[in-house]
Parts: sequence; structure tokens; C-alpha cells
Amino acid sequence: MLSVLYQFLENSPESVTMVLNGKYYYVNQSASELLGYPAPDEVLGKEPAEFIAPSDKARVMGIINGLAMGETHPLRYEFKLKRVDETEVEVETYLKIIYVGENLATLAFTRDISQRKMYERRLEALHNISRDLGNAKSLQETMEITLNTISGLLGFHWSGIGFIDDGVLRYYLRTGDDRYGGGLLQLNSPSITLRAIKTGRAQLVKDTRLDPDYYKPPNGPPKAMLSELSVPIIIDGVAEGIINIEGEDLNAFNENDQKLIETLAYHVASAVINIRSRENIKRNLEELERSNRDLDDYTYVVSHDLKAPLRTIKSFSTFLSEDYGHLLDDPGKDYLHRIASAATNMDHLIEDLLLLSRVGRKFTENEEVNLNEVLEEIKSDQAAMLEERNCRVIVGKLPSLRIQRIWAKQIFSNLVNNGLKFNESQSPTVEVSCINEADRYVFAVKDNGIGIDDKYNSKLFKIFERLNAGGKYEGTGAGLAISKKIAEYFGGEIWVESKPGVGSTFFFSVPRKAGEVKED
Ligand code: ADP
Repeated sequence: MLSVLYQFLENSPESVTMVLNGKYYYVNQSASELLGYPAPDEVLGKEPAEFIAPSDKARVMGIINGLAMGETHPLRYEFKLKRVDETEVEVETYLKIIYVGENLATLAFTRDISQRKMYERRLEALHNISRDLGNAKSLQETMEITLNTISGLLGFHWSGIGFIDDGVLRYYLRTGDDRYGGGLLQLNSPSITLRAIKTGRAQLVKDTRLDPDYYKPPNGPPKAMLSELSVPIIIDGVAEGIINIEGEDLNAFNENDQKLIETLAYHVASAVINIRSRENIKRNLEELERSNRDLDDYTYVVSHDLKAPLRTIKSFSTFLSEDYGHLLDDPGKDYLHRIASAATNMDHLIEDLLLLSRVGRKFTENEEVNLNEVLEEIKSDQAAMLEERNCRVIVGKLPSLRIQRIWAKQIFSNLVNNGLKFNESQSPTVEVSCINEADRYVFAVKDNGIGIDDKYNSKLFKIFERLNAGGKYEGTGAGLAISKKIAEYFGGEIWVESKPGVGSTFFFSVPRKAGEVKED
């Protein structure tokens, strides 16, 4: 019976050892192979400490010594074993203390877990790389992250990432020697890499000597590479680039490595798409900003140039009226009067256009603006009108913002004046308040005026659009267009909620991050 048990131990695929008095006393066949010896006899009498990788020695010896002193340590632990040829292998060990006569002996059951560890590392690396590539800002950064991950996982081999550029495959980044003369590969060269690009499929070559396409640089490669794995980077269905790794050994890569690199290539492709669409958005925005600026410049110049001839019309109609007015009959006087008032009207339109083109130009600096003070100023500017029309302007608690004072005053005075102007109430009332939202301030200017029909909402903020024909209310129709431009310049929006006959509330928002904000 005992000899059967012994056979059982000897043939166990798990490595079994027993240490007595600090030395190997029993070692089965699997254990001697794990340590790198052909037969167990050669291990007997050696000390376990010899076979622990330097990085783990102190920790593992601490556990073993502790066990001998009767301490209760975790019985299962992982460490790196150092084999006789100095290579290291990751193992998992279960320990058990037994008595052999009077003596304590340590039984160890050990197995190689390097495969499992490798897959754990790959999984973690894939997790990390998908996060890091998502944040990558440039192609260069994308390639660096990818090659670092590859060399971390597959150890040192020749590796490179390239993209097709102007009729050649250009290796932007590579580890190892310059096998392609400046990192360029002509597209008509025979090459396993280019075959991957042309077919759109990964090429796993375990012996490059047998592959007719293996690329041989004209002056001979710096080092013969016997294995190669080339995986295309496919962007929107087109193989635009390559991840290529080569090894000096035969069979350096297997199908699992191929799957790993294919997954990386997929992540690189998504990162490239991401970066390109971010760049596109940025370019479009810059283009839009430029054309808006051009339009503002144009408006500014044209309005400015219109002022001179207008001044001439105004002056000469004044001279005409003063010097020759007595010679004109009533219709003549009426024509002259109409010319003068059209010129004044045009003057207002031009002033509004100039104002509109100025919003967004940085001709004053941001400053800390107490908005309650701004509203007080608006009220005192309008004091006579407020009293005459029995108006009330009620202002709630407003914050202080770091913005351009001139535009803050302009937008509030436009909205407050409109609320009082388009108003038939006995006591026109405007209420100004602020709603603190998580990431923005929303200002509300509410009136008890004539209100606005919903169907005009899209027209309302366009320049020179007026809803009430017939000249009952003064104005040019530029106020809301200017207010919209100011709100957008502050980084926010403007909108209205209204009921005809009841009143309107105009809202505009200012993002909190748009200006350092002081809460008092
Ligand atoms: P303006 O005040 O010079 O007419 P705005 O651009 O300020 O120009 O306003 C455009 C139009 O929107 C106004 O002509 C008016 O018809 C309508 N409107 C603006 N504010 C109000 C309001 N508070 N109540 C009712 N209608 C308004």
C-alpha cells in the first residue's frame, strides 16, 4: 500500500516537496522539473532559499521561518521561483506543517501559474490601455501608449507602429534597430507587413525563412528576425496602419498574442477616429469664429463708412431748412422733415449695427461686476421715464461676476427697457432675479407687458426684426439681437417664455466657469 502511495506522489503533476531541518528531504519528479533539474536526487539536500527569486526572498523566507516557529501564516501564497538556469517562474504554493518523529517538516504543493498571471496582466493592460487611449490627445501619444503596452506584455522584441503616408509605410515609432532605413517602407516591396495591410488581415509567421514575402532590406537586416506578427490598423474599413512585432526566435508569437495585438489595433483605430473628430470639430469652430470675426469687421467698416455720407445728408437738410425753409411751401417742408427724420432713424440703425459688431471684441477687460449696482445704475439713468410712466423695477439678490461691465449693463438695460416699453399696464413692472443652478446662473427679467405669441420665437432675436408694426413703440429691432450676442459671448444662451396679454420673461444664462464668481 505504501509503495502505491509513493508511486502516486512521484507521478503527481503537481510538484510536491518536503523540507526537514531547512533542507529538501523529499522532492517528486514534477518539483525537480519545475526547479530545472532532470532528477529529484540532484535537489535533495539543497536549501529552498536558493530557489526563490531575489525580489521575493525576504518575504517568502519570513513566511517559512514563521511557520517553523508555529506562527499562523496564510498557507497559500504566490511568489517567483528561481530555476537552476536563473530563469524565473511564477508559482502558487500551499504549505502544511507535519511532524516527522520529533521534528517539524514543511510540506509544499506548488504549481506553475505563469500562464494565468500572463492572462491577468493582459486583461489589466487592455483595461488600462482602453482608458489611456481614450484620453490620448495626439497620434504620437497613442502610438507611445500602445508600444509601451506591447513591450510591457511581450518583453523586448522589435516592434513598430506605422501608417501609410504619401505612398509609403512610415514607421512613426519603433523600438529596436532601424530595419527599414529611416522607418520608411516602399509600398511595392515584398513584405509580410504590407501583406497584412493589403489583405486587411493579421499575419502570424512562425518561421520567416519559409515566407517568400519576408522583407530583406537591401543591406541585410541588422539582426535576423525569425518570427513576425503584423496586425493592420483598420480605420473606417480601410487598413491605414500597422502594428508589427518581430522576434529573433522561431515561434516567438502564438495565436493568443495575435488576438492581443488585434485588440490593441482595434483600440488604436478608435483612438485615431476620436482624435480626428476632435481635430475636425476644433477646425470647424476656428473657421466659424474666423468668419464671424470677418463679418463683424465688415459690419464695423461698412457702418462706419455709412456715417460720413449720412452726416452730409443731415447737415445739408439742416442748412436747407434754416436758409431756404421760408421759400418752401408746406409739402416742401414736409419732404424736408421726412428726409431729416429718415436720416436720424438711419443714424440709430448704424449705431446699433456698430454696437452689435463690437460685442465680442475685447476692448475692455473683465472686472468684478456687482450686478445689483449695475441695475441701480440702469434705474437711475431711466429715473425720469420710470416716474413719468409710473413704472417699477424690482431687483432681487444678484451675484457679482467677473465679466465685461459694459456688456452686462447693455444686456440688462435692453431687457428691462423692453419690458417697460412693450407694456400697456397702468403700472408697468419689471422684476429682475437670478436662479443659481449647479453650473450656471440664470437671470430672469419678467414683465407684465403685452406678451409675445410663440410663433415669433424664432424671429425675435434676429437683427432688425420687430413684431409690432405701425410705429407704436420706438426702436430699431436690434436690442434682442445684441442681447443674444452678449449672452453667447458670456458663454450662455438667451430665451423667452411669454403669454400674450399677460407678460414675458426673458432669461439668459452665464456659466459659472465663464468668470471667477464671488458669492457674497
Ligand atoms: P426694439 O425694442 O428696438 O423693437 P428688440 O430687438 O429689443 O427691438 O425687440 C424686437 C421685438 O421683440 C420688439 O419689436 C417687440 O416686438 C418684441 N419684444 C421685445 N421685448 C419684448 C417684451 N418684453 N414684451 C413684448 N414684446 C417684446
